[in-house]
Amino acid sequence: MNIPFAKPNLDKKDIYKIVKTLKSPILTHGPNSINFENFFIKKFKYKYAHTVSNCTAALHMSYMAIKLGKGDEIIVPNQTHVSTVHAAEILGAKPIFVDCELSTGNINLEEIKKKITKKTKAITVVHYLGKPVNIEEIAKFCKKKKIYLIEDCALSLGAKFKNGFVGSFGDFACFSFYPAKHITTADGGMLVCKKEKDFKKVKLLKGFGVDKNFNERKIPGNYDVKSLGLNYRLDEIRCALGISQLKKLDRFIKLRKQNYSFLKQMLSDVKNISILDLDSRMNFKSSYYCFSIILKKKIKKHRFKIIKEIKSRGIGTSIHYPKPVSDYTYYKNKYRLKSKLFPNASIMSYSSINLPVGPHLKKKDLYYIVKTIKKIFSKY
Ligand SMILES: *Cc1c(COP(=O)(O)O)cnc(C)c1O
Repeated sequence: MNIPFAKPNLDKKDIYKIVKTLKSPILTHGPNSINFENFFIKKFKYKYAHTVSNCTAALHMSYMAIKLGKGDEIIVPNQTHVSTVHAAEILGAKPIFVDCELSTGNINLEEIKKKITKKTKAITVVHYLGKPVNIEEIAKFCKKKKIYLIEDCALSLGAKFKNGFVGSFGDFACFSFYPAKHITTADGGMLVCKKEKDFKKVKLLKGFGVDKNFNERKIPGNYDVKSLGLNYRLDEIRCALGISQLKKLDRFIKLRKQNYSFLKQMLSDVKNISILDLDSRMNFKSSYYCFSIILKKKIKKHRFKIIKEIKSRGIGTSIHYPKPVSDYTYYKNKYRLKSKLFPNASIMSYSSINLPVGPHLKKKDLYYIVKTIKKIFSKY
């Protein structure tokens, strides 16, 4: 058996679109990028979108657009990919970590309120494993306090809170198309925003601060540079793949939901574990990123051994994440925050084993996973 944790799902149509673009004369600055952005906006009812190199680039530019820097604080979840925090830290801002809820892995307004100071410029939320945070009340709060809200949607493409897709509540929203995410362009991402002025800022930031992009130049090669900027564009090949992948997202999520539900039903009686509940509810729709098992205290110390056993039987797993961000060496050395300040993020990071639910799983894979997991856990 060889069942990976995640497997990019590329079919003939995807490959045809890639090859077609490779054979065309335009590999960057072309129509695929614009078409991908327009498709994204239309599908999820967003206002403005920029294709970008990856989600980290999207976060970096969101923070740059609000001029986040020295002297500013930004509230971030401690239970997230380091990218959410690095993108702010690299600008000189101070990350203020918030613990997550044990039942969801998400941060909530109550915890956020405890960390607000005069210096708070922005809050970034992560919709953990595809289950939305209570974004409506957080957005309301940010508006009242005049604090920017950024949504890190890297794990939650297609998830909904009430009638709005995640990403439509914040000033900015950042998406990842890394191979392990819901859809892929190899590396790649999208940056969504609400205001035209922010859209224009990001346009400068993602292309060297140049005033006219390739297609807007009357004299070839002639442009001026209005501001600082980077090269965070997404090329035409990846954008072509993105369009063709996005067409399949609804089917992918449906399969993820089915696979998640199957595992949840079949593994509910396994002892000494709890299963993170990602199920959709009246007020939200999950996008089911993976199946997260949290080991109970009693067997927590055996986690790496259990992971190795699962791996040796050909099943891919993952950990979200290896540590709460404040426990990584860089952040530990700089801010000296004790793990026990974040009891829930510590439990999640140090006790989770995450199983695949992606569209690559066949029925027989699912039965094999259930049988194997039951067998392994019966020893503990
Ligand atoms: C994957 C991930 C990122 C980083 O995405 P890249 O596209 O690889 O830069 C950021 N935030 C979260 C929550 C992620 O899961």
